[in-house]
Amino acid sequence: MRLLLHCCCGPCATEVADHFRGLGYEVTGWFFNPNIHPEQERRRRERTLGAAAEAIALPVLPNGPGMGLGEFLQAIAREGGTRCRTCYTLRLAATAREAAQRGFQAFSSTLLISPYQALDVIEEVGREEGRRFGVDFCFADLREKYGASCERARELDLYRQNYCGCLFSALERAERRAGRAAAKGLRAAARR
Ligand code: SF4
Repeated sequence: MRLLLHCCCGPCATEVADHFRGLGYEVTGWFFNPNIHPEQERRRRERTLGAAAEAIALPVLPNGPGMGLGEFLQAIAREGGTRCRTCYTLRLAATAREAAQRGFQAFSSTLLISPYQALDVIEEVGREEGRRFGVDFCFADLREKYGASCERARELDLYRQNYCGCLFSALERAERRAGRAAAKGLRAAARR
């Protein structure tokens, strides 16, 4: 059975591809993460997937297109304002469509390994898009493999991003950093 694997990044692709190969699937990867911000970061993640795929002999399809920030915001507004559900829908609908057009019987996503994602929403969206395009969505909670994927990324010297990807998550990272810096400053002032 041929499975098209939506890949959000290289590090997560290694363990997830191996999981589905272990179940007997013939796995092909596809990078489709149109709202990664900024564009240089999206390209860097694409390149990292290329390096990971080479290391684990994973065939990959040509990458999907990017998306301007305005287009992403419009999509969120259309879907009712829940940004992560919209993001999952954009990625999984495109993967299901691509899988159907290319004759794959199944599809899945590397998002299933991330402890930072809402797996219940991903499962719901994946199954819905699978039904729409007539391709099986393969769901599994792979979060226990996340540590192994980080370790493997270190061994393969793969770039590991420190924010989820969209502009909102980049802003949240900046806020966390600013909060930590402010707390450190307050602690230092208290010691004086
Ligand atoms: S936080 Fe991550 S999953 Fe949520 S919208 Fe941004 S990129 Fe997508």
